[in-house]
Amino acid sequence: MSHYSEQLIQFVVDFANTYDPFLDEPEFLRTPADLQEFLEQRHTEMSEPLTEMEFLKIRQLRDQLREIFLRLETSEPVEIQRVINGLLGATPVNLQAIISGIEPIEIKYAVLTNVALREQLAVQVGLGLTLALQQYGTERLKVCAAAPCQEVFIDVSKNKSRRFCGERCANRYNVAHFRERQRSDKD
Ligand SMILES: [Zn+2]
Repeated sequence: MSHYSEQLIQFVVDFANTYDPFLDEPEFLRTPADLQEFLEQRHTEMSEPLTEMEFLKIRQLRDQLREIFLRLETSEPVEIQRVINGLLGATPVNLQAIISGIEPIEIKYAVLTNVALREQLAVQVGLGLTLALQQYGTERLKVCAAAPCQEVFIDVSKNKSRRFCGERCANRYNVAHFRERQRSDKD
């Protein structure tokens, strides 16, 4: 997989995880400045500051992306396809093949000029999701099993057995279940 494809997939995961119900303050993107910083750290430079309206629309896009992840297990393929195609169709794009001879061949896309950032990001999210599904399949795109955490992650373990976003949740889950077992043993 090319570096560019990996970046697009990582963007989708990071973007979905800008909301974390595990935390007292689940919202990472509280202001347009938060979003701007998030995007600039991921190579999306903006010529002017985001308006409140654009900011809210992009946060809705993030919520839509989270819904896709949360429902992936139970969604019909045709439903996933419909949602992704809706994102990909947000605005026309130019495609270019990049062949360097060293790196894998890359297909890069560019939106036309004067496209609203929300539409640009919708295409990027649609593309990132498509690449993630192509590379890993629905069964490896997961949501952490230790409620209330809903971090999304890609399970690259050999037997697809990973259930938690990280150590934090694996430990928390194991402790909770150990106590539960102790309680039921006493009963
Ligand atoms: Zn977690």
